[in-house]
Amino acid sequence: MRLRRPDFFAGDWRADDCAVAAAADSCYRAVMKPEDLGWCPFFAEQFAPFKQKGLLPARVVRGEKNYFRVNCEGQELTARFAGRIRHKADGRSELPVVGDWVAVDVQQEQGRATIHAVLERRSSFARNLPGRRKGKGQERVEKQVIAANVDLVLIVSGLDRDFNLRRIERYLTLVSGSGAEAVIVLNKADLCADPQACLEQVRKIAPETPIHLFSALDVRQLESLFAHLSYGRTLALLGSSGVGKSTIINGLLGEQRQKVAAVSEAVGKGRHTTTHRELFVLPQGGILMDNPGMRELHLWGEEEDLAGSFADIEELAQHCRFSDCGHRSEPGCAVRGAQDSGTLDSARLASYLKLKEELGRLRPRR
Ligand code: GDP
Ligand code: ZN
Repeated sequence: MRLRRPDFFAGDWRADDCAVAAAADSCYRAVMKPEDLGWCPFFAEQFAPFKQKGLLPARVVRGEKNYFRVNCEGQELTARFAGRIRHKADGRSELPVVGDWVAVDVQQEQGRATIHAVLERRSSFARNLPGRRKGKGQERVEKQVIAANVDLVLIVSGLDRDFNLRRIERYLTLVSGSGAEAVIVLNKADLCADPQACLEQVRKIAPETPIHLFSALDVRQLESLFAHLSYGRTLALLGSSGVGKSTIINGLLGEQRQKVAAVSEAVGKGRHTTTHRELFVLPQGGILMDNPGMRELHLWGEEEDLAGSFADIEELAQHCRFSDCGHRSEPGCAVRGAQDSGTLDSARLASYLKLKEELGRLRPRR
């Protein structure tokens, strides 16, 4: 397979802003069925009672404080809550976020929609709401969901100074708790003296997770990711700043993104909603979520999520003398035993204990 120009872009271009804007949107407008945006039986089943009331399914492509942009049967609309559900949504986690499926009724003439319900999520990413203090320096723990219904997460690391196994473990734990699948991307192979050695190190901490090694500067190398893209599947990228997420996203979006950028430069930011959308239909198949909130994600989850990212340690822990062993100085600790005999890496154990403690701290006030 190779990156190809989407058919929607075939044909002549006029140097006219509006024509460019329209063409940039055309890839997206070709979306007609909810399935194109990830609708599946999981949502269809929940939707049955809303369908009876004459409502339509729509997917949130961008969330703002007081309104949302949704895609409903290929049409992008501004949507607001029906007053009733805004009232019912007591916690922030119940408000829709980008990626959510909602039940709407459409006011066609005004190009608007009203959201009547948020469907249950298949997966969600949450963070501890930053900047909230309870007083006396005590941090308040409040969960904020920032993205929903992501099927696959690319955990991106750069093989330059960013390379850090402990950070990859942290991201794996986060994805493990979200309900999405993970793929590890080791980018900037061109800046690393021994990329294969790095790959082997990552394989050791994530034996079950697919790993890709490439340099995103060469757009053809992104083709190895195509195996994970498929119709209706939603993909998001996670990783520190500077690891190459935008480069990968631009490579996958190809001309779609370039036209969008050309439009925003030509007419100024904000005039075309295209520039603010956070869900894109990929020409190679699948849906890409480009959500700034995902980029600065801090850990939110439960201690159980460690079972996905530290299966080796959790397995060892089954053999500790005490079932609530903290693996610090307890007698008969199989985890410490493995560390002492050299079969378990000390840095990996330290990383596990640190994450466990962090997750434990999130628990009481959830
Ligand atoms: P983001 O912050 O994760 O979105 O990272 P960017 O995509 O903005 O990339 C940060 C910098 O790294 C940019 O200057 C990119 O051109 C550069 N970059 C991205 N991928 C590669 C790569 O594979 N090799 C090299 N040498 N540089 C890269
Ligand atoms: Zn133990």
